[in-house]
Amino acid sequence: MSINKKELEDLILRIEGLEKRLDKLDPISKRKLPSKKEQVEEIQNNLEEWSKKFPSLDVEFELLKMLDWLKANQKRKKDYKAFFRNWLRKSSNSVEKKVEEVYRYIYGCNNRDDCSTQESEYKDMYIFCKKCSAQKTIIKSIKS
Ligand SMILES: [Zn+2]
Repeated sequence: MSINKKELEDLILRIEGLEKRLDKLDPISKRKLPSKKEQVEEIQNNLEEWSKKFPSLDVEFELLKMLDWLKANQKRKKDYKAFFRNWLRKSSNSVEKKVEEVYRYIYGCNNRDDCSTQESEYKDMYIFCKKCSAQKTIIKSIKS
């Protein structure tokens, strides 16, 4: 589907009109949120609830991390609860990713197929092969 310039301009005008109507119904500038202190206190009082929603995270620690980050980056937020929710979502995604990306490493000898292989979860193991008088190297990594 192609759209010409006129149609695009009409569309933009319609969207702007809708936004104006929305702002009249629920003006963003007039929405009052409690102070940062009150919002953070509310989060602290509900840590158990947050923890239920994000069981893979230490929510209390994440809150401290978030407040540190805001301070370090000199950021102020309007809605700390929303920001905290996004923060936890991002953290929990990265935790899950890390869990997914655990590898096991197969150590073996490059030259000889008849040497035994050894599995380890560490990629910096020193495994010596007596037959080859050499250090085994990682010949394969598998996701576990
Ligand atoms: Zn060997």
